[in-house]
Amino acid sequence: MQNSGTDIHGVLKRYWGFDSFRTVQEDIIRSVMAGRDTLALMPTGGGKSLTYQVPTMASDGLCMVITPLIALMKDQVDRLRRLGIQAAAVHSGMSPRAIDIALDNCAYGDVKFLYVAPERLATEVFRLRVQRMNVTLIAVDEAHCISQWGYDFRPSYLRIAEIRRLLPGVPMLALTASATQTVADDIMRLLEFAEPCIIRGSFARKNLSYAVRHTDDKEGQLMRIVRNVEGSGIVYASTREGAERIAEFLRGEGVTAAAYHGGLPHAERSLRQDEWLSGKVRIMAATNAFGMGIDKADVRFVVHYTMCDSPESYYQEAGRAARDGCRGYALLLAASDDGDRIRRRFDAEFPPLEKVREIYERVCDYCQVGIGDGRYASFIFNIYDFCSRNGFRRTVVENAMSLLSRNGYMTLLDASDNPARIMFRVSRDDLYRLRVERDELDAVLRVILRLYDGVFTEFRAIDESQIAAVSGYTREKVHEQLRQLWRLRVISYIPANRSPVLFFDEERLPAADLYISPETYKRRRELTEERFSNMLAYVDNTTVCRSRMLQEYFGDTESGDCGVCDICLERRRAERTEGAAGLGDRILSHLGGGPCSVKELAAGFGCSDRAVVEAVERLLGEGKISTLEDGKIAKNR
Ligand code: ADP
Ligand code: MG
Repeated sequence: MQNSGTDIHGVLKRYWGFDSFRTVQEDIIRSVMAGRDTLALMPTGGGKSLTYQVPTMASDGLCMVITPLIALMKDQVDRLRRLGIQAAAVHSGMSPRAIDIALDNCAYGDVKFLYVAPERLATEVFRLRVQRMNVTLIAVDEAHCISQWGYDFRPSYLRIAEIRRLLPGVPMLALTASATQTVADDIMRLLEFAEPCIIRGSFARKNLSYAVRHTDDKEGQLMRIVRNVEGSGIVYASTREGAERIAEFLRGEGVTAAAYHGGLPHAERSLRQDEWLSGKVRIMAATNAFGMGIDKADVRFVVHYTMCDSPESYYQEAGRAARDGCRGYALLLAASDDGDRIRRRFDAEFPPLEKVREIYERVCDYCQVGIGDGRYASFIFNIYDFCSRNGFRRTVVENAMSLLSRNGYMTLLDASDNPARIMFRVSRDDLYRLRVERDELDAVLRVILRLYDGVFTEFRAIDESQIAAVSGYTREKVHEQLRQLWRLRVISYIPANRSPVLFFDEERLPAADLYISPETYKRRRELTEERFSNMLAYVDNTTVCRSRMLQEYFGDTESGDCGVCDICLERRRAERTEGAAGLGDRILSHLGGGPCSVKELAAGFGCSDRAVVEAVERLLGEGKISTLEDGKIAKNR
C-alpha cells in the first residue's frame, strides 16, 4: 500500500462525491497507506467502509475484506458496483463454480475488492488462488468477532492470521464499533499486528438527546414523545407480539404505524420497510431484527419500550436516530420490574453445558449428519417436531441453538425467509441432453432458464407460482417436477417452507470436542451479565451525562458532558433555579437600602435585564416586593 502521495481527497470526491472526510477517517487512511497495521474503532454509521475503500482506490492492487454476514457482503458489493468499482464476494452460499469464477476475476481481472466470509479462508482453493492476487490491503470488518470476550465471538475469525502468512508484508486494517481495551488487545494480538496501533473515533452524538423515563405508564410516555416530536421514529420492543401490540396501539391513537419482526413473510417485511422509508408510515414498531443496514437519515426519535440487554445494542439501536445531524431523541422507557424480568431470562438463556452438548448431538442425529460431515449443509428444521420427538422444552432448545450459533457451529435461519431455492448440478450441455431425453421435463426447465439467470452458478430463489404461471402447469405439477429433477440429481432443491432452515457452519464434531469449554461458557455468561449490569447502571443513573456514560463504556474517554440529555438538562434547570433564588435574595437585601429600577438592579449585579425581570416577577408573585408608581421596585414590610 504505497503511493502515499496520492490525492485521497480527489478519490473521495471522484467516486463517492463527498467533499471531506469525517474526523478520524483521514488518520486511519494515512496510517494504512503508511503500511501500518491499524485497528480502527468507530461507531456504527461512522463511515468505516471508506477507510479501506479510499486507500484501495488511491493505489494499485486489491483489497481483501473479511466480513461475517453474507447479507452485508452482498450489500457492499452492490454499492461498489453502482459506483463503477469492480467487486466480488466469496461465501458459503455459492457453488464451487461461482467461487472459482469470482476468484479468477480477482487474480486476472480488475477486481478491486474481494469480500470473503472467514470460513472460506481455510479452504485449499482459496489459499492457492490468493497467492496469485495482487493483494495490497487486508481489511477485517467486525474485528471484535475474533475475541472470545467480545460481543459476538466467531471461531472462524481465528483463522484470519493464517492468511497473513500467505501475504507477507500486506498491512491489515481491523474495524469495529465495539471493543473494550481487553478486546482491542485481543484483536491486535490474534491478528498478529506488527505493532499495536489503535485509532479511535468519537462515540459522541452531539445532536442526539438521550433520556430515560421510569414509568409504569409506558403508553402515555410513548404518546408524549409521538405528539411532541415531529417526524418519523422507531419503537423497539423485545418480542414480536410486543411490536405488533405497540403498532396497533399507535394506530388506535391515529398515528400511522407498522410492525416489523422476523416472523413476517419476507415480502411483507420489505413492503412495511418501504412504507416507513418513504414516510407513508410514520412509526415502525420493531424487534431488533429491524435496522441493520437501514440508512434513513431523518429518524427523529428512537424509543425503547423495553430495556436492551447491553449498552452495545442500545447505542447501536438508539443511534439510528438523527443521522442527518439535526436534533433527535433516544428515549428508554423502564418499568419497575423490567430489570428482574431480564435477569430471569439469563437462566433460560444459559442451559447447562451438558445440555447444550446433548442438544447438539440430537440435532445432528435429527438431520442425519454423521461425525465429520455436514459442513455448509442446510436442513429444514422443524423445532416443534424436534422437541416433541426428543422431549425437550422449546425455549431451552432455542437458547442452546443460539449458543451454538454464537460459537460458529450452526445457524438457525428465520422461518419466513425461505422461498424455494435451486441450483443446477449439471453443465449446460448435460442439461440440453436431458431436455431432449426427458421431454416431459423440458417445459419447466425452459421456463427456469428464462426466468432465473445464474442458476448454474449459485442457489437462486425461485417462485414456484411464477414458474407455474409462465409454463401453464399447476403449482403442484411444478413442485412435483422440481422434486423429480432433484431425484435425478439435476438440481439441488430446497423447497419453499415455513420451517426454519438449519445451516451447518462447521462439520459435526464429537460432542466432547465442542468448543464451548466450561471456562469460556462461564466467562460468556459473566460477560453477558456484566453487559447487562452496565445497561442497568445506565438506566438507574441519575448523575452522569448519559452520552458521556455510553462513550466511556466504549473507551472514548475524552468526552465532555453533552448538555442535551435528561441528566444534563435537569442539572442546568437546577442551576438556573438555584441561581434565580440567589439573585432574589440579593435583590431583597439591595432594596433594603431603598427602591430601585430594574435597570439599576441589573447594572449593579452585572447580570442581564432578563434575569432580573424573571427574579423580580417571582418576588412579586411571592408578595415580597411591590411596584411603585414611578416604576421602581420596593421591598414590602
Ligand atoms: P460503518 O461501517 O462505520 O457503520 P459505513 O461505512 O456503512 O459505516 O458508512 C455509513 C454512511 O456514512 C454511509 O452512507 C456512507 O456513505 C456515509 N459516509 C461515510 N463517510 C462519509 C463522508 N466522509 N462524508 C459523507 N458521508 C460519509
Ligand atoms: Mg460497516
